[in-house]
Amino acid sequence: MSDWLTPGLAHLWLPYTQMKTAPTPLPVVSAKGVRLRLADGRELIDGISSWWTACHGYAHPHIRAAVEAQLATLPHVMFAGLVHEPAARLATRLASLLPGDLERVFFTESGSVAVEVALKMAIQFWRNKGQAAKQRIVCFRHGYHGDTFATMALCDPEEGMHTLFAGSMPEQIMAELPADESMRRAFDLLLETQAARVAAVIVEPLVQGAGGMKMHDAATLAFVAEACRRHGVLLIADEIMTGFGRSGKLFACGEANVIPDILCLSKALTGGTLPLAATVARRQVFEAFLSDDPGAALMHGPTYMANPLACAAAHASLDLFEREPRLEQVAAIEAQLRAKLEPCRAIAGVADLRVKGAIGAVELDGTVDLDAMRRRFPELGVWVRPFGRIVYLMPPFVIDSADLSVLTGAVRRVLAERAATL
Ligand SMILES: *Cc1c(COP(=O)(O)O)cnc(C)c1O
Repeated sequence: MSDWLTPGLAHLWLPYTQMKTAPTPLPVVSAKGVRLRLADGRELIDGISSWWTACHGYAHPHIRAAVEAQLATLPHVMFAGLVHEPAARLATRLASLLPGDLERVFFTESGSVAVEVALKMAIQFWRNKGQAAKQRIVCFRHGYHGDTFATMALCDPEEGMHTLFAGSMPEQIMAELPADESMRRAFDLLLETQAARVAAVIVEPLVQGAGGMKMHDAATLAFVAEACRRHGVLLIADEIMTGFGRSGKLFACGEANVIPDILCLSKALTGGTLPLAATVARRQVFEAFLSDDPGAALMHGPTYMANPLACAAAHASLDLFEREPRLEQVAAIEAQLRAKLEPCRAIAGVADLRVKGAIGAVELDGTVDLDAMRRRFPELGVWVRPFGRIVYLMPPFVIDSADLSVLTGAVRRVLAERAATL
């Protein structure tokens, strides 16, 4: 097999992994379309798009050509005092795609950092306006916003992966998503009583991802936005997972006609080819940083920000959203996920099924042997990786219905096999 695997595994430290007991990771050598090719020649149909990034499938020739052309001219250059065409064009294009006056784009290299920047923008926005006491962030149960310290503090403490660090994180305000009338009154009261010390509310619009694949309706999101407006609190939309079609619309906020003050993008921004993230601010947020006082500027600047290769990939990815019927493909995936996952509800040990856009999530009850399921899916020729109590599919948008049927069939089969052991 591969001569690099065993020596390499003696030196790698893998993410979210108990290195003593976890199954050995599978050596992957290439990927094309919706298939991952393993070192032993097996192919797996990808059900999770490499953490929800590879929306056009792997190795799309249009993205590859754009990155290769950029590689030949300017792979990277620092972004302070210098500016380049890929970033300028991408910022212009994002501003034209996003609603309202979301028009100022700050590039970073990961989702967590995009959220960190959003938090700095929100807190400093109020400081620059003479309201320095507004420093807290309101976040929601089952939310997930990243793994760095400031973003960990916004994740669900129980569902989240970060309880270990509870004592060393900033304390934020955790609320319930206001899904009904009484919760709306409670949320409104929370903002009313806390507004003097709250800078912003942060929400994953319509679908909460890594915190448990929970979904809420457009009216709930619209209510959150309206409550923020009424109480003088900024709204940060974390569209790192939902952005670029995953929930059915190009952006989830669009479904609720909500224009957040700050919006975070990453995951599918480059179509899963290179790391890139963007924090986009409305005009009034940006204008609060304009001053004769140098101390009023936004003090942030990752070394690799606005990397030209990543910007070129993002540009090419947006071309594909224009040239190819991505949102129609998402609608077809949604219909098929609904139909083919529906029988899961009848399987013992299944607590709930939720489908939206190209996302299908089965929530389990009882004990969940994650390692066993993670071993089983590849045996069935698919790449599906459950977490917590969730078995989910988020395939590339280009998947055809036959391959999608293989994925849904594997999910039904693994859940049925589990049911037999309960
Ligand atoms: C993945 C994710 C993040 C963190 O992004 P990283 O690139 O992993 O740092 C933040 N928010 C949401 C909603 C995400 O899905």
